[in-house]
Amino acid sequence: MNVINPATEEIIATLQEDTESSLHAKLEILKNAQLQWAKTGLAERIKVIQQFDDLLEVEKERLAGVLTSEVGKPLQQARNELNGARSRMQWMCTHAVKYLSDEQIINSVDLKEVISYDPLGVICNISAWNYPYLVGVNVFIPALLAGNAVLYKPSEYASLTGLEIEKLLKKAGIPDGVFQVALGARETGELLLDMDFDGYYFTGSYRTGQRIYQRVAAKMVPCQLELGGKDPLYVADDVKDIEAVATGTADGAFYNNGQSCCAVERIYVHEKVYDSYIYSFVKEVKSWKIGTPTEEGIYIGALTRKEQLEVLEGQIKDALAKGAVLLNGGKRIIGKGYNFEPTVLTGVSNDMKVMQEESFGPIIGIMKVKDDAEALRLMKDSVYGLTASVYTDSIDRAKEILSQIDTGTGYWNCCDRVSAGLPWSGRKHSGIGATLSHQGLRAFTKTKSWHLRKG
Ligand code: NAD
Repeated sequence: MNVINPATEEIIATLQEDTESSLHAKLEILKNAQLQWAKTGLAERIKVIQQFDDLLEVEKERLAGVLTSEVGKPLQQARNELNGARSRMQWMCTHAVKYLSDEQIINSVDLKEVISYDPLGVICNISAWNYPYLVGVNVFIPALLAGNAVLYKPSEYASLTGLEIEKLLKKAGIPDGVFQVALGARETGELLLDMDFDGYYFTGSYRTGQRIYQRVAAKMVPCQLELGGKDPLYVADDVKDIEAVATGTADGAFYNNGQSCCAVERIYVHEKVYDSYIYSFVKEVKSWKIGTPTEEGIYIGALTRKEQLEVLEGQIKDALAKGAVLLNGGKRIIGKGYNFEPTVLTGVSNDMKVMQEESFGPIIGIMKVKDDAEALRLMKDSVYGLTASVYTDSIDRAKEILSQIDTGTGYWNCCDRVSAGLPWSGRKHSGIGATLSHQGLRAFTKTKSWHLRKG
């Protein structure tokens, strides 16, 4: 399997993909190692994760370089990702004792009722490439803290990072065999679905997630899915600083080249502030430095996957054919690397692909609306349900709108944001189950109810 640098199109590594027999051998090792790991006290497991966290800090520059070389994101955004992953781990380590220890429900002389949170066993984590540290940490850290062993299949576009994670977890003190990496693409993922894991935790597209859910159903083990989105954002007419709103929301749409599950993917703007919003938005987009992701100051690097260039071209073509207006960008950048101009389309409508299908790239459609009711109707019009955002001076106005949209997350005057303390969950085609928060810490456990009566 070749690893290609998307900014240079050069092969930077060649790796051996896993085979059916290597995967089965890894599962056997994981099963044996898990029993011992589960017996290790929670305090010891937390210590190991804290050491891993420290190692990420020590090795940050090198790891950011590896990440940028295989996914094409600007180096500073790779550093930001590592910092973000560290702060999530710190939250998990701080709260693990509270949420993973036995819970006393009744504690009288004659009767005790206790809930214990037992590890599931060996879990399979099939993961995405857009934030391999962040989406990885959401799953394998709480899984390890809870006493599980983990088979981690990084995306084929983030294999080098997957191997770095394995190396550093071992260096941090994870016992041999408790964490294993499976290398490969779809075929490797399919093999894992035939195997005997105690839980499947997937981050990726709706299409793959739906397939995994169907394949895993017969096993009767937990299957959690964190999938895509078509996240809407509404700018109401009472915002105080339209320039700040335009700048912040442009970042929400284009950070990481738009390759974020919770990137802003559709913008609706009240007609009273529309012109000034568009002016500031386009000005902001035109100010960004585009180019080689290893150069400091670059905001738009290379897209990770070559295929996405065609998807973006298709969405733009469809939009223009249906009457949209191109205000910036619109095409791939000629030369080495999978580069695409940051693209702003106006005059869009919800029947265009760019307003319905996940773009996962540097492209946004902005639509003028006459009032909150129209904004709400359009925002709700999606098969996805990850996040929605409202910019307004009034929290009541925002809550009135957000409470009627079926998403796992609602944002008031912010967007494209994840918190370790809040559940990260999608509804409808955006997923099932949650990571992060107390829910995410317990997502890798099964409860046992203890009824303890003195004889
Ligand atoms: P993808 O579905 O193409 O691949 C995800 C993983 O599944 C990869 O490891 C891939 O090798 C594997 N895979 C592919 N086909 C498989 C199959 N048939 N059986 C088993 N495994 C298979 O997704 P991607 O391109 O890696 O990631 C982008 C998608 O992930 C976007 O839709 C994005 O919104 C979503 N995402 C969601 C979240 C979230 O938290 N909700 C976070 C990050 C990314």
